[in-house]
Amino acid sequence: MNNTSLNSPIEKIKGVGPKIKSQLEKIGITHVEDALFLLPKSYENRTKLTQIKDLIPGQPFQIEGEIIESKIYYPGRRAFYAKITDGTGFLQIRLFFFSQQQAKSFEKGLSVRLYGVIRNSGNKYEVFHPSYKIFNSKFRPPLDNTLTPVYSLGASKITQYRLRTIIHNCLEKIDESNLNEKEIDKTFLSQNISKLSIKEALKIIHNPSVSDDVLKIKQFEHPAQKRLIIEELITNLIGVKISTKKIDKMKAKVINNNKEIFNSFYKALPFSLTNAQERVIKEIQGDMNKSRPMRRLVQGDVGSGKTVVAAGAMLTCAKNNLQSVLLCPTEVLAEQHFKNFSIWFASENINIEILTGKTKKKDWERIDYDLRSGKIKILIGTHSVFQKRVSMKNLSLVVVDEQQRFGVKQRFEMLQKSKEAVLPHQLFMTATPIPRTLAMTIFADLSVSKIDEMPPGRNPVITSVMSNDKKDELVDRLEVICSEGNQAFWLCTMIEESESLDVQAAESAKEWISKKSKNLKVGLVHSKLNKSQKDSVIENFREGKIDVLVCTTVIEVGMDVPNASLMIIENAERLGLSQLHQLRGRVGRGPNMNAHCVLLYQGKLGEIAEARMTAMKETNDGFKISEIDMKIRGSGEILGTKQSGGMELKIADLMRDAQYLNSAEKLANILISRPNEVEILMKRWVGHKQNLIAAQ
Ligand code: ADP
Ligand code: MG
Repeated sequence: MNNTSLNSPIEKIKGVGPKIKSQLEKIGITHVEDALFLLPKSYENRTKLTQIKDLIPGQPFQIEGEIIESKIYYPGRRAFYAKITDGTGFLQIRLFFFSQQQAKSFEKGLSVRLYGVIRNSGNKYEVFHPSYKIFNSKFRPPLDNTLTPVYSLGASKITQYRLRTIIHNCLEKIDESNLNEKEIDKTFLSQNISKLSIKEALKIIHNPSVSDDVLKIKQFEHPAQKRLIIEELITNLIGVKISTKKIDKMKAKVINNNKEIFNSFYKALPFSLTNAQERVIKEIQGDMNKSRPMRRLVQGDVGSGKTVVAAGAMLTCAKNNLQSVLLCPTEVLAEQHFKNFSIWFASENINIEILTGKTKKKDWERIDYDLRSGKIKILIGTHSVFQKRVSMKNLSLVVVDEQQRFGVKQRFEMLQKSKEAVLPHQLFMTATPIPRTLAMTIFADLSVSKIDEMPPGRNPVITSVMSNDKKDELVDRLEVICSEGNQAFWLCTMIEESESLDVQAAESAKEWISKKSKNLKVGLVHSKLNKSQKDSVIENFREGKIDVLVCTTVIEVGMDVPNASLMIIENAERLGLSQLHQLRGRVGRGPNMNAHCVLLYQGKLGEIAEARMTAMKETNDGFKISEIDMKIRGSGEILGTKQSGGMELKIADLMRDAQYLNSAEKLANILISRPNEVEILMKRWVGHKQNLIAAQ
């Protein structure tokens, strides 16, 4: 007898051995239920074929054709090439990572059915690393009759195919198992919000058939998706309400301030603060002067000067003999802040330290000791290091830079960490504006300060859009700006989910630029380099030993190289507006600089991509950009989960789904008073591992 239930550990499911189990754990799946609630971030339509003559570059298609040519070749490294035709045109296939056997299987005369994003290469179509099936045309396999779900794999090495199989196996248990869903389903029904049960919704979402409304599903507007989206929003709203209630019962240190404490700081700063910066520092000081723990969000466009605001808040703590910590998403950013703080606080008598993955064991021991004794007043570090148990004598302020995560999980983690009834004040820095609807609901427990003014002398970055075919001209431009003593980024973007292709693109871009110009010193940084290699390249760039930094999107958020004046972005049509704006913000940070951004695109621009490029050309204002972004996204385009406002949501997208917030709020108010249902929801949407309710 099989007694697997949805609460069973995932290894009870067929196909999950120790190796797969540990891969699944990396994406938060430890129980059967977790797998069911890992929801597709998009779908591939492999239920139909497209003729080669109808292909559009930049978009994914399923194509079938006869193999007419195939070979291994050496464009610097071993690669594989094949050419197919379906009678309406030709398509080239390229593989850069392949086995001998794979290459052999592309036999002339056989047929291949493939799915991949089409690229334009000169006037030919090509596709890199498609998923494919080879067959003899006499035995043509039938087309799929369901859409193919695509899941976020995060850091896990599991394949889409394997994950689909496992989720499929989990779905088979769903009818016989208890999801404890009855009460929640009933509430949805009684409030007229959805007739679908959670089980029905899950089945459709993981396995939508062509008879379902395919367009609606691809646009995340299907009733089954709505059912799940609203449930996830409810859970987050409840989570915020519970954590707010808990925080209200806790106390923070009252931190005093007076004008004198900034005297020597102001003298040491190489610039004077903008009015906006001064105002925001005062708002923060006002909050910290109360015993209610602060939870404040500082929102300021890229380059608006958020770091110095954080410094002001931390200095206020230090002058009260209290400790504070600044948490950064990356080591490079932590080091950059540490350097700045050391300059700005040069004439203060304050002990500042940095703690990252690079810190040597010997230093770590000393720092640990000095944190416990209270000697170190300001600590700058990476998230990951801080989470590994750092003990401080009187931590009173936590600043989180480039905050990407405001989720319920993070809120509860913070609460669980503080054993006593004392909570540090919390300050979050972000460049992403939060729309009003969200500020009133999901972010209701945060106060917001806006830095709505740029430092003086900051010229807008002039943005132009160019077809990839003309990129030769850019090398001349690189030579000019570098001979004038400025520097440039050359950014190679993600090629459809494949980090290695991304790296490959960056490597060939570097070779190409170096070949075209003997004068330019070109550096390269990407995700395949180890930390110290990465750091040394970035350091060389910062010091001006490199003119052009070729990079992938791994280049750090918040990276500040005041001398950089040109940003070139390849395949810009594939990136979202907010991301483009963030990247553009890496240049033009020096005063009175004429900075430029060039957006390169492949082939013909689609309507939405065109709208994005136009927005980039016409405005430098991050708030406007995000408004336009929302409008474009409102028209049905899906850009993945990157822009869910940092909530790490499984299916809801706070921008796309803001329309459902009212319904969610209504149900949240009903369900919050039922501890059983709250627990079920938290387990489902936040995770089995967390005992969040214990934090209540
Ligand atoms: P972000 O808001 O993107 O984090 P940073 O804090 O990195 O911005 O600041 C961007 C650049 O502007 C830095 O080089 C910083 O030293 C500089 N800066 C910050 N405030 C001012 C100011 N008031 N006047 C002139 N330059 C400033
Ligand atoms: Mg910053």
